[in-house]
Amino acid sequence: MSSIEQHDAVQHFWCPQLGQTINFAYCRKVQGGLPCTRVLTCFSPHFDVAAFIEQHYTPQERERFLAPAQSRVERVLDTLEKVRQDKQEEDK
Ligand code: SF4
Repeated sequence: MSSIEQHDAVQHFWCPQLGQTINFAYCRKVQGGLPCTRVLTCFSPHFDVAAFIEQHYTPQERERFLAPAQSRVERVLDTLEKVRQDKQEEDK
């Protein structure tokens, strides 16, 4: 298993919540120690954040930080699955 800090230095060029460049180290702990709700959207262009989330967080934790509302949960999990499938296609 890889370290949870492995992507901490990765920067997203513009955080829509803070209005500045931000490191993944902040984004993965911002909700009471869990990642930001928008972490998939912001960091998918930078590294395989879907795989990172699957590796380091339980399904229950993922539901808590990815989407509080049921419809939102479904959309985010769909996105997570799509990103994972796209990655699998790329790796073939
Ligand atoms: S994941 Fe959240 S805190 Fe991090 S850049 Fe995106 S919106 Fe900002």
